[in-house]
Amino acid sequence: MDKPLCVAFDCDGVLADSISSWKTIHDHFGTDSKDLLQKFMAGELTDSEFMAADIALWKAKSPKIHRDDIFRAYSGCKLMKGAKELVADLKAAGVHVAIVSAGVDLYVQSIAALVKADDWIANGFNFDDEGWLMDDGVVRVPSMQKYTSIQKLLDILDCPPERLVSVGDSSMDLSMHVEGSTFIGFNPQREVAKTAFAEAGITVINSKDLNDLRPHLGL
Ligand SMILES: [Mg+2]
Repeated sequence: MDKPLCVAFDCDGVLADSISSWKTIHDHFGTDSKDLLQKFMAGELTDSEFMAADIALWKAKSPKIHRDDIFRAYSGCKLMKGAKELVADLKAAGVHVAIVSAGVDLYVQSIAALVKADDWIANGFNFDDEGWLMDDGVVRVPSMQKYTSIQKLLDILDCPPERLVSVGDSSMDLSMHVEGSTFIGFNPQREVAKTAFAEAGITVINSKDLNDLRPHLGL
């Protein structure tokens, strides 16, 4: 394979050492979205319905939620080992580094700033003028059609798919895999992900150290 021109990382469980930036907020408010997730995976909820249902669960616990409360929920989160160094070395090698996440924009933005990614896109929230959380979320990255964001990235960079590597940890991240490109599974935790990666016949790195990706990214 030629050296990549662009590497697109998922955020939660890849650059960030967290299961899900949505789950972090659920843990903060003591709510649980397992039932919603099951319905979503079964195709009974759209991304935007799923987000609105999540927000409704939090508001049932805490009717007024401020942007600062959301930031506070993320205060304990940290980067995956090797994240900063890997992104820095990719950029030094002339590789465009993007984050394509179906997670929460407030969080993904802070991870992007920490690792100094070139570009990021994620889902998120609407707040009113005083910073209070509104009832509907913002869908920018449909979690089962992440190729929509990847394709946009390729178009903007004028990058052939053969020179793109995507890295993700979940079965839904396989939707980052546009034809001709390379997808690498990193640190799969859920059984569904392990099974989906095995069935897809892709390279899987079972590690929580991003340095283990280096040989696969031309470093
Ligand atoms: Mg993930």
